[in-house]
Amino acid sequence: MSFDNELPAGVALTSLDKFMGLNRKASVWPVTMGLACCAIEMMATGTPRFDISRFGMEVFRASPRHADLMIVSGRVSWKMAPIIRNAYDAMPEPKWVISMGACASSGGVFNNYAVVQGCDHVVPVDVYLPGCPPRPEALIHAIMVLWDQIHYRTPITQKERLEIARKAEKAALEATPTSQMKGLLA
Ligand code: SF4
Repeated sequence: MSFDNELPAGVALTSLDKFMGLNRKASVWPVTMGLACCAIEMMATGTPRFDISRFGMEVFRASPRHADLMIVSGRVSWKMAPIIRNAYDAMPEPKWVISMGACASSGGVFNNYAVVQGCDHVVPVDVYLPGCPPRPEALIHAIMVLWDQIHYRTPITQKERLEIARKAEKAALEATPTSQMKGLLA
């Protein structure tokens, strides 16, 4: 039997992906994207008390071209949405997004015309972090959840990302608007 026949298909590629993931997760650099009160907690995560530099992440980059993680921390206004998308598009692949806090994930208490009801309408989100605001410890936990994704998941291509985004957008458009949700009061 030849060596090719003994080697299960995809083993070498999978191992390489995991090896690359191990390297990638140890040097994730976030882009500066503070939008509202949640950003104060994000900034606190970089202080000596919480010490995000333990994870190789203390370099919050001012340019999206130098970053591969976007932490959307705070409510996203419709006016800000295209700027966030521009910054996301400028980040090199592979890249990841954490939606930090209730406002970034769902609009939070701001159920009105000025605020995007979830930043996943603008950028694809990898990890949602609940809370108002989430504490720095919670952000660190979200980063560790993201680490698992970076380490063990094969990065998806731009085409696959677009397909996932299209499906998510279609599902969001077909869902009942939050302004029409009455819950137990209906
Ligand atoms: S979730 Fe709370 S703390 Fe965060 S931006 Fe919204 S209102 Fe502010």
